Amino acid sequence: MIRKTALVVGATSGIGLEVVKKFVNNGYDVFATYNKGDLCDLEDIFVGLDSKLYTCKVDVKNAQDIKNLFKKIEKDVDFLDCVVYCPGISYDEKMLIDVDDEEIEEILNVNLKGAIIAGREAMRFFVKRKHGSIIFISSIYGIYGGACESVYSASKGGMIALSKAMAQECGAFNVRVNCVAPGFIDTKMTAKFNEEERERIIESTPLKRLGRVDDVANAVGFLASEESSFITGQVIEVAGGAVKF
Ligand code: NAD
Repeated sequence: MIRKTALVVGATSGIGLEVVKKFVNNGYDVFATYNKGDLCDLEDIFVGLDSKLYTCKVDVKNAQDIKNLFKKIEKDVDFLDCVVYCPGISYDEKMLIDVDDEEIEEILNVNLKGAIIAGREAMRFFVKRKHGSIIFISSIYGIYGGACESVYSASKGGMIALSKAMAQECGAFNVRVNCVAPGFIDTKMTAKFNEEERERIIESTPLKRLGRVDDVANAVGFLASEESSFITGQVIEVAGGAVKF
């Protein structure tokens, strides 16, 4: 049986790390990128299993890093089934009038420009081989907007438009492009919220709980699989029905 291979960009924590786990459980080999921090949690997933781990350091603010990543993939495996783009940053919640230029640039560079460059490189790779699934991790703020998260919302909304445009461009090449839009997921990114705020978030979520990383990874696993082979240009909300908090 030919093994499948996935690339997970931003794989060392939170949702990205759980997405790697999902692929390994489904028998994939994984190319995983890291930026800062150590690789222990990532390497632990592969201990005693047949799945292979390939790693590459990538700062998505640096377009050349992303291009080098795809060169390395062509050299090492020359085949991929799926690319998942996870990197994302946000700052403390504040009104747009209080956001400075550096913050805007930083958020757009990581969340949107990095996604565009990675999406382009993934598309070049997949279109040539007439096979592939690209999945961007967006946010429900990219659909509904989030007050005091204007720039983050804009970046995630841009990502949704990007994926829909890409889906139209590359459907004829058997390449699918979709987004997963999480609501509040319990990770490092949301650790800044205190107990009282978490209770409020649960209250405004129809399914009355916080999201877990595996809720998101399950949706990614589906969009990567043949079970979603007629689905492209779509956004799956993984938010317990929440539209705002
Ligand atoms: P996280 O902070 O654990 O993960 C963020 C990831 O982005 C990390 O792997 C980090 O290394 C990577 N990253 C940041 N800057 C980078 C850079 N310059 N180059 C390369 N990688 C970089 O948080 P998470 O919750 O796992 O977030 C994963 C994705 O899910 C993000 O895109 C985030 O916007 C999105 N999301 C999260 C939530 C949530 O509630 N946690 C909700 C909606 C969307």
